[in-house]
Amino acid sequence: MWIKNIRLIDAYTDRIGNVEIQDGKIKTITDQKPLSITDRKIDGRGKILFPGFIDPHVHFRDPGFTHKEDFFTGTRSAIAGGVTTIFDMPNTKPATFTREILEEKRLIARAKAQCHWGLYFGAGIGNIQEIENMKNVPGVKLYLNTTTGNLKMDDKNQWREIFRVGKRVSLHAEGDTFAHAVEIWLEEGAPCPLHLCHASLKSEVDLVRELKKDRALVSKISMEACPHHLLMTHKELEAYGAYCCMKPVLATQEDVEALWKGVEDETIDFFATDHAPHTKTEKENSNQTGIPVYGIPGVETLFPLIFTQWIERGWDLKKFAAMMSQKAVKIFSIKDKKGAIKEGFDADLVIIDPEYHGKIEAKNLHSKCGWSSYEGWDIVGRVEKTIVGGAVVFENENFFERLLAREINFS
Ligand SMILES: [Zn+2]
Repeated sequence: MWIKNIRLIDAYTDRIGNVEIQDGKIKTITDQKPLSITDRKIDGRGKILFPGFIDPHVHFRDPGFTHKEDFFTGTRSAIAGGVTTIFDMPNTKPATFTREILEEKRLIARAKAQCHWGLYFGAGIGNIQEIENMKNVPGVKLYLNTTTGNLKMDDKNQWREIFRVGKRVSLHAEGDTFAHAVEIWLEEGAPCPLHLCHASLKSEVDLVRELKKDRALVSKISMEACPHHLLMTHKELEAYGAYCCMKPVLATQEDVEALWKGVEDETIDFFATDHAPHTKTEKENSNQTGIPVYGIPGVETLFPLIFTQWIERGWDLKKFAAMMSQKAVKIFSIKDKKGAIKEGFDADLVIIDPEYHGKIEAKNLHSKCGWSSYEGWDIVGRVEKTIVGGAVVFENENFFERLLAREINFS
């Protein structure tokens, strides 16, 4: 299959060309000379081809909470949003604290996933040996603040123990807790790569910016930011209640501006959604009882929300591509050839209509939860086709089940 006359954009290039896909790989890339292609082809004029987006932080609720989402609906929502790889978090039920539970979760993902996937391991009390022996995961998730599921670790000696294992640790740590975790990590000699999930505060961006100035630490510290923390403040929480309630909670305009500064100067490495759906009933109940139910859906609205900002700011789309895929490949040491449009790379791609202007409407989204915090928001750009493993799996609102989704390989 050929994609002809399309604007190819990845972290390294922005040009018009033609791409040939064969056996799940990008076989040939040619420039814009007229091609006599008799093969099946897609006319890409006026469109953009990006490497498939990577969302390294989702909660697809499977197993245990499949009334909210499951691996099938979650990954369908992903591909409809141009996301071709996701990493699922360990606070499912049972929580991913042992290798045996991880294997069971792998079976679920293998059977249901419509896009590529990786599964996080969880840090729990007394599972240090399991962490030492876990294989092929993006990292171990360490919860230092309260969120959905009771996975919070308070014992600082356990933090030390987990750091010392040396495998990548992804932190849910907010503000002072993050600063404290960094202190302990430094005391231990920064023995593992440390990643801050869903940055929401100016203090977190400032701290990571300082750490990255140290040559010895720059390749060991990373952070992600979510659209909701980049686009909303506590004012939305006050106005919309449970539908804008997540952890970390929405912060101030000053924090929002600090996050965008962090995106601009690359202190923030990539975007992630923390896609964490709950049913409408659960959110309504939360509004009535005042008991918080943390998390909002987001995997499908990642692209249009961030792309719209990028276009408004007139920023370089190569950097957009980098932050939507290539940087996650690098930071999580993904062994598969993903995150770039290069010959020999996996054909996980997304075709975008950059001229589209419209609105986000939950009725057009595919998460099981059926609502969006961004209802009615104006957006620029639309996912026209999503290609996973060389085959079109989503095209103009239609899904094609190809069973080409694979587990990501980490080195
Ligand atoms: Zn999360």
